[in-house]
Amino acid sequence: MSVVAEGEHPSPTLQGFAQLAFRGSVSHLLSLSLFTRAVPMDHDRLELSPEKMRTLGYRVVDLLVDHFADGGDESLGETPSRDELEAHLREDLPEEGTPPEAVLDQVEAEVLPNTMRVDHPRFFGFVPGPNNFVGVLADMLASGFNVFSGTWISGAAAAQIELVVIDWLRTLCGLPEAAGGLFTSGGSMANVTALAAARHARLDDDVTGAVAYCSDQTHTSVDRALRLLGFGPDQLHRVPADDQYRLDPESLEEAIAADRAAGRRPFCIIANAGTTNTGAVDPLPALAALADAEDLWLHVDGAYGAPTVVCKRGQNRLVGIERVDSLTLDPHKWLFQPFEIGGVLVRDEQHLRRAFRLEAEYLEDAVGEEDEVNFSASGIQLTRSFRALKLWMTLKVFGREHVATAVARGFERAEQAERLLRGRPGWTVVTPAQMGIITFRCEPDGWTPDQVDALTRRLIAAVNDEGAAFLTQTTLDGRPVLRLCPINPRTTAKDLEETIARLDALQAEIEVGATPAS
Ligand SMILES: *Cc1c(COP(=O)(O)O)cnc(C)c1O
Repeated sequence: MSVVAEGEHPSPTLQGFAQLAFRGSVSHLLSLSLFTRAVPMDHDRLELSPEKMRTLGYRVVDLLVDHFADGGDESLGETPSRDELEAHLREDLPEEGTPPEAVLDQVEAEVLPNTMRVDHPRFFGFVPGPNNFVGVLADMLASGFNVFSGTWISGAAAAQIELVVIDWLRTLCGLPEAAGGLFTSGGSMANVTALAAARHARLDDDVTGAVAYCSDQTHTSVDRALRLLGFGPDQLHRVPADDQYRLDPESLEEAIAADRAAGRRPFCIIANAGTTNTGAVDPLPALAALADAEDLWLHVDGAYGAPTVVCKRGQNRLVGIERVDSLTLDPHKWLFQPFEIGGVLVRDEQHLRRAFRLEAEYLEDAVGEEDEVNFSASGIQLTRSFRALKLWMTLKVFGREHVATAVARGFERAEQAERLLRGRPGWTVVTPAQMGIITFRCEPDGWTPDQVDALTRRLIAAVNDEGAAFLTQTTLDGRPVLRLCPINPRTTAKDLEETIARLDALQAEIEVGATPAS
């Protein structure tokens, strides 16, 4: 069966081309028959008719609008087992086409419901992904027009918009004008990009004996980045965090001194602007001063927390961020963008260009004028999608002010959760609300720590099984804790009240035996 039943007439352009090619030299009839043979059927060109594209496109838009308009009522989605999904979705590569309506039916019935809705107002796990419809529209355009954002010659306005949006972020962070950066697929890629710049600037790419420093709360993407850049595991010195899960400058200074005495080459401090575990912010001014004194590169991983510089509360929390050598900041985390858009900023933009500079004969045309920016020259990707468009459109449509209020609400919701928990007997706040994250445990009177651990694990399972809210746990000082990250600006006070009331009701139902279960 044909994918495209109707509309199998040649496009005007090809018709024109055919007429030009055969003008005057062949009979109309002959040209038509040649034409029919020379031009493939539409489905061989992977085309749909304009009517079909509109019908399908409107259906997709309707699905999206229903999704956005109905946020809180719909289910949070399912996480079926591999076996179940194998049974539904395993099939041989289809030799023939299927009507697109049927494929969309299947996406609607079997694919979308079997993914978590990380943009749901009661999705509090990991880092939620509360994207926004304007960003979605931008992604549709970027992918529909397939804008190439690697070189000026192929995507001039895309590069210009990326320059502008990066500059907005640079200004919010208080970095100097010489600073620059680019958008990446996410924070992992931003960290590897920034640390490649650090390696080049400080080590001239020779990693022998070099050491980077971070707290034990640092995201594993940093370990992975250093591994990819040729550093061994012992070349990342994880300093134990202080009692508030921050990197302690004094311990760090001692570690650096000990490494220098042992003949190693300290080159970089990696600090957190909002850890994924607790939202802790390392003491940036003190670490910047230490980096200056020790002549080290200061990279700050703000994948999660740095987007909050868009609001006053974030800026107050992140004093010192203006002193970084490089910074990771993910718009797809707390700036409400669809995946994938991470960002990296570097104090001196030249460091990125120097670290990534290569020449290739097949890209000679792409070099262009001095002021024509080729983002492919400052990072890992050559072919890059037009990621800047979604953040640009979002900031233009809502304005910084409304985006700032939306971010600030995340801080407030976490504080509300803390108040609710402190008001209920038996609940302990492990780390207070900071940067939109709170961690806590239920510790009924007389229970042993092991029993509380078991209760924590069972509570997570119980609340997620019910499906009205989604939470994840993390581990602090070797013990599991509940963790809530309510940064979705569509999360209501009632969403939180109900979730915490439900947790309290569930904990009362859970029996943990005298011998600790786990
Ligand atoms: C999420 C996160 C990362 C990784 O970013 P991705 O966009 O998931 O690749 C790195 N660091 C921190 C602190 C994060 O929270």
